[in-house]
Amino acid sequence: MDHDALRHWSKIAADWAHDYHTGLRDRPVRAPLTPGAIAAQLPETPPENPEPPEAIFADFARIIPPGLTHWQHPRFFAYFPANASPASMLAEQLANAIAAQGMLWQTSPAVTEVEQVMIRWLTRALGLPDRFTGTIHDSATTATLSAILTMREQALGWQGLQQGLSAQPRLRLYASAETHSSVDKATRIAGIGQENLVKIPTDATLSMKPGALAGAIAADRAAGHLPAGVILCAGGTSVGAFDRIADCITVAKAAGLPVHVDAAWAGSAMICPEFRRLWEGIEGADSIVFNPHKWLGAQFDCAVQFLADPGPQIRTLGLRPTYLETAGREEITNFNEWTVPLGRRFRALKLWFTLRAYGLSGLRDRIRNHVSWARQARDALARLPGVTITTEPSLSLFTFALATDRETETLLSRINDDGRIYLTQTRHAGRFVIRVQVGQFDCTAEDVDMIPKVVADLM
Ligand code: PLP
Repeated sequence: MDHDALRHWSKIAADWAHDYHTGLRDRPVRAPLTPGAIAAQLPETPPENPEPPEAIFADFARIIPPGLTHWQHPRFFAYFPANASPASMLAEQLANAIAAQGMLWQTSPAVTEVEQVMIRWLTRALGLPDRFTGTIHDSATTATLSAILTMREQALGWQGLQQGLSAQPRLRLYASAETHSSVDKATRIAGIGQENLVKIPTDATLSMKPGALAGAIAADRAAGHLPAGVILCAGGTSVGAFDRIADCITVAKAAGLPVHVDAAWAGSAMICPEFRRLWEGIEGADSIVFNPHKWLGAQFDCAVQFLADPGPQIRTLGLRPTYLETAGREEITNFNEWTVPLGRRFRALKLWFTLRAYGLSGLRDRIRNHVSWARQARDALARLPGVTITTEPSLSLFTFALATDRETETLLSRINDDGRIYLTQTRHAGRFVIRVQVGQFDCTAEDVDMIPKVVADLM
């Protein structure tokens, strides 16, 4: 395939994409689950000779869509959204066409400079102080890993990077049980060890208890351990829990510890000033991650990390071998020094397109609708005999259950086999419960009304 053929097939692909998106409501949201069904349709070995684009495209159209769970389906209410606004898809097409690798400023100044400006725009959009700077990662997991590696090295006076951890004191991190498993994963990968991630008990509001945090830090110091940092939860994945950020940061700062806040999902909602009370005190954080690829519409992958001071992270992650040396170090930013991978995609382009195409007002309208439609769905479900609302809406996420775990599990299977909507589960307060999150970019009030209808039909 050459560039002329690419032009031809790109137009066909654009038409296909249009029909795919406009026809999503006619498809079951979740892929029918028959393991091996897709792989069985692919040859065991790669082709020896070139194949015509017609054949490749025809196989794509025949084999792939039936094996997809449609994340852009307007009735996708599972997990959290991975929204791809049309403007973001257009930007991704252009980024793919350019195929730049932005590891250094000089490897494409536009990649670095648009990223810097987008971080500034988002700082302002979320109401954060202007002194925050930041970078874009592939995922929240990588951002959290970067923050935890930085906490580790700050605590060790940057000795771990050279000497490893074997001769170091026992490092300790603190988070609540409501934080995402990416915190556990990052703690493991950073060599700190799962058992040194201290899970602080939560109170009735599902916030970490600040007093218990203070107690755990003091006890660890008394035992000769080395507290390294606190990870706070602003919108947990299970039921949308929020730590009381201001109170917890006060405790962390009194103990001299840095704070990373995981707002991967809920961060997008902070473009609406009325929701910012949920993370009151956020300006005291050292690091914050939020995923525009979840609720804002800048498609996967796009995870923004705000940093109060990038210095410690650059000191932890930056390496400058001769082959990466560049002139003008003082005036330029080489973002590879802020992140784990060296190579970097042009992720800022889709933020630029999305923020411009919808404006903050358009994006706020969507998020406000989602929050209010989720409340309506909660009320309609609560009216169904036998349904219990197990957690109240946190922004646009709530959970419900039937009388027993078994009944709830059966209902969930029926819902997802039915295909009109897609919901997933969590465990809360010892119960198997069904999560409902409303956040799909193209969903309407009618799509959300389908949730209680489907539940009523299938109970
Ligand atoms: N934090 C929270 C609260 C999440 O909900 C998720 C994913 O859903 C993550 C972190 C991990 O996100 P990522 O897939 O970008 O690593």
